[in-house]
Amino acid sequence: MSVEARQGRLSVVGLGPGDPSCLTAEARDALAAADAIYGYGPYLDRLPPRSGQMRYASDNRQEILRAQAALRHATDGAAVAVVSGGDPGVFAMAATICEVVETGPDSWRAVDIAIVPGVTAMLAVAARVGAPLGHDFCALSLSDNLKPWDLIERRIDAVAGAGFVIALYNPTSHARPWQLGAAFDRLRRCLPAPTPVVFGRAVGRMDEDIMVTTLAEAPSARADMATLIIVGSAETRIVARPGRLPLVYTPRTHQCASA
Ligand code: SAH
Repeated sequence: MSVEARQGRLSVVGLGPGDPSCLTAEARDALAAADAIYGYGPYLDRLPPRSGQMRYASDNRQEILRAQAALRHATDGAAVAVVSGGDPGVFAMAATICEVVETGPDSWRAVDIAIVPGVTAMLAVAARVGAPLGHDFCALSLSDNLKPWDLIERRIDAVAGAGFVIALYNPTSHARPWQLGAAFDRLRRCLPAPTPVVFGRAVGRMDEDIMVTTLAEAPSARADMATLIIVGSAETRIVARPGRLPLVYTPRTHQCASA
């Protein structure tokens, strides 16, 4: 047994937005090499069964416990994979693993940890409509489960005021029904009414749905937990096309005098 195997190995693997064709070759290899895979049940369901490979499903809110269990398993010498949708470093398990290593027993620092990137939702949604992230942009989670709402409001004001295109992750949930409407109201105060807005739901899955609209008309009720929203900047443009979704893009050259 090699030294690496005795120390254990933990891969934190991004599965991409949904379609298996979006899985990177590196992610495919890491999954194939795993003795055990830990993750949220619906993500594990995306992976074809593999003989001899154990699967440990846990709830979405059990991330710390999942990370601890995976690290314990890896220190036993196993090759363990933890999976996230999209990219594991974007509002997902990679940060949880780092946090648990920082606060856990010293033996967890000896585990060989590999973060395997994936196609994050904002890139998958952007690609469906053109290039809305073609110039400066940022990603913001609207979830106030792990940070206070007033901080989210301050960040919305700051980034919209600075002219960034904004990718909104976690726009809504049953427990957070009003936050997206409040975010749109705030954005309408500092961005022009025709600012393009893209709703991308379940991209790469059977029930994918893409909608292009404007900030003035953006319907917050249209979003659910599987939706990623891109709010353009004052420079983002919509190019109408007959019989097709419009192209949405943010020019690479700064055009406006302000922002
Ligand atoms: N690590 C993931 C993000 C996890 S946060 C990634 O990199 O994509 C969960 C949020 O991601 C959802 O609320 C939604 O906003 C977005 N999301 C994840 N998968 C998506 C998909 N297939 N289509 C649209 N949005 C998605």
